[in-house]
Order: sequence, then C-alpha cells, then structure tokens
Amino acid sequence: MTLEALTWSCAVCSKPVSDGAGFLTVDMPSVQEVDRAWDDFKRSHPRGYEVAELADMPEPVPWRAIHEACEVEGSTYSIEIAKVRTHAGLLKWTAHLMGKRWLSSTNWADVIDHQARGQHL
Ligand SMILES: [Zn+2]
Repeated sequence: MTLEALTWSCAVCSKPVSDGAGFLTVDMPSVQEVDRAWDDFKRSHPRGYEVAELADMPEPVPWRAIHEACEVEGSTYSIEIAKVRTHAGLLKWTAHLMGKRWLSSTNWADVIDHQARGQHL
C-alpha cells in the first residue's frame, strides 16, 4: 500500500475534487429507504432466509465524491474531501461510520476497497 494522497473524482463532472472544493457524500433519504427495507425483511424472516429471497432487496446506496459547485440535491450526509485525502483519514472515518446503524445500507465497503486497490471512485 502506498501512502500517496487519495484521488476522488466528481460523480457529476468526473474531474478530481481538491481539498476544500467538495465532499464525499451519500443521500440520506435513500439510505433510510434501504434501511427500512432491511428492517422489514428481517422482521418478516425471523428464522432466516434463502439467498434467493435477497434478489428483490434494494442495492446499497452509493457514496459519491462531488464538487460543492456540482452538487444539486440536499439531505445528504457529507464528509469534507480533505478529511479523506489519506488512507489514515479514510480509516478514521470508517471507524466513525461503523457507529452508524445505516452504514451497511451504503456501499462504504466498496469505497474503501477501491481506495485500498489504488482505484478511485
Ligand atoms: Zn464536479
């Protein structure tokens, strides 16, 4: 693993997001929807389930890097891009987010997996 600065590309314009110019963000209304779907699913399957039954479950909500100037919607959970510029920063935020019950309704695992492989979002 290298200790180079992590690159984040804007989900809207595809250009890199520099420190102070944007956020890593996830849409909270969508996260709450996925969260509710899982709560309902678990409640209706108290004794477990077949893998095939998961086919209709919603996909995790994607985190997106985005420029402040490109953002069009509100109601999002945002992390300043400067705070996730390094692997250590990303690890620190991962620890923080693991305290949120809704984290598993997002694709955070993909985000850190991509950055660990040196690919960017
Ligand atoms: Zn942009």
